Amino acid sequence: MGLICFSLFIILALILIAVLKITPSSSTPKSEQLIEQSYPTLKKQVQTIDNQTKTYFLPDNDLIENQATRLIHNSKETDVTYYLTSKDNQTFWVNTLYVVSKNSQNLDTDSKIVAQFNSTKDNTKVLKLSDIIKSDDKSQAAFKLALTRYVFEATNVTSEQFIPLKNQLQSISLDTTDFSFNQNQLDFSLPDTISTVKKVSLAIDTINYLLNSDYQIADKSQNQTPKKVVALTFDDGPRPGSTDSILSTLNQFDIKATFFMLGQNAKRHPDLVKKVKENGHAIGSHSYNHPMLTKLKPDELIKQINQTGQAIYEAAHIYPTLFRPPYGARNQVVDQTILKPLIEWNIDSEDWKKPGTETLLKTIQQNVRSGSIILMHDIHQTTADALPTVINYLKNAGYEFVSIDQLYQHQLYPLTNYYSQHDAR
Ligand SMILES: [Zn+2]
Repeated sequence: MGLICFSLFIILALILIAVLKITPSSSTPKSEQLIEQSYPTLKKQVQTIDNQTKTYFLPDNDLIENQATRLIHNSKETDVTYYLTSKDNQTFWVNTLYVVSKNSQNLDTDSKIVAQFNSTKDNTKVLKLSDIIKSDDKSQAAFKLALTRYVFEATNVTSEQFIPLKNQLQSISLDTTDFSFNQNQLDFSLPDTISTVKKVSLAIDTINYLLNSDYQIADKSQNQTPKKVVALTFDDGPRPGSTDSILSTLNQFDIKATFFMLGQNAKRHPDLVKKVKENGHAIGSHSYNHPMLTKLKPDELIKQINQTGQAIYEAAHIYPTLFRPPYGARNQVVDQTILKPLIEWNIDSEDWKKPGTETLLKTIQQNVRSGSIILMHDIHQTTADALPTVINYLKNAGYEFVSIDQLYQHQLYPLTNYYSQHDAR
């Protein structure tokens, strides 16, 4: 009898110890009470990882739990409570993992986002970036180009970092769940080793065309009535005098154009590159010193592109995403090395022959149609002198002037050659 009583006593004591262990002796932290009130369906869990006790509230779903606990394990916050909320985004869920200090009195003001990830509507799969972005080479290259541009323009990349960073961003894996996505933007976390820019935020409008149809937002541009448009492009500059004069004519008429610059000239005249940007024009790369790219060795070709990108970036903090090959000369190797949309033309004004206003105008009059890309050169004063006449003619003929990006409604792909609005190959 005594033995049974003793055993019973031991068992009760063990149960008591166990209960005390689960229920902390101090009262439940305020943050936990608030989470329990606001999100009653979340399940509380306590785990000790590397001698640190982590308290978290997660939905009762294996997929979400696994992904979230992985993120919690990686998080280095101390003395905090984690919780996760899921927002319905029509075709998928946006899951947000928050962290809040244990004694917080207000979740709304004190919570910080640790990470976000997306899961399918039926919560059977955590979405990877590669599930969202179209899988063809052109779309993937276009996405990486947008990503690269964002990172370069969001920070100051030094000359030493320029090429390594560009290469790292170009070879980044889209096979990652470390991104989040909603109707307005796509946030992508970069590994610490790549850049001081931790998070890339791309507006959905600018990458919508690169998304798989399930994830695209409704295209607002579809109902626009087709307009009579023309894109003026100026090559080989910038050059003091003629480029300045072209800029003031464009200003007078309130027209935006696209300038394809040579790296060597951008390096020589950084102020002029900056002026072109500040006047609201688009800037593309036209190689460093105008070689026939098809005749270059691969390393020479890469050098032409990198040096030009760097000169334009250093002058105006722009990462050029458009490329015009000198003489229009390109082949598959050139396309695949440059990995930018290649902008050709369908009207050569032949202004390099310095023909005078009348002949220049006649060439354009005879060839122009809606969607044309007109090639001119801002290094010739004769072109600058003829420009008001050319613009007046086109205006009176009912043309509107657009930059190359606008001509294609900001939907351009690397590995593609553009000759006019309706001729891309
Ligand atoms: Zn040229």
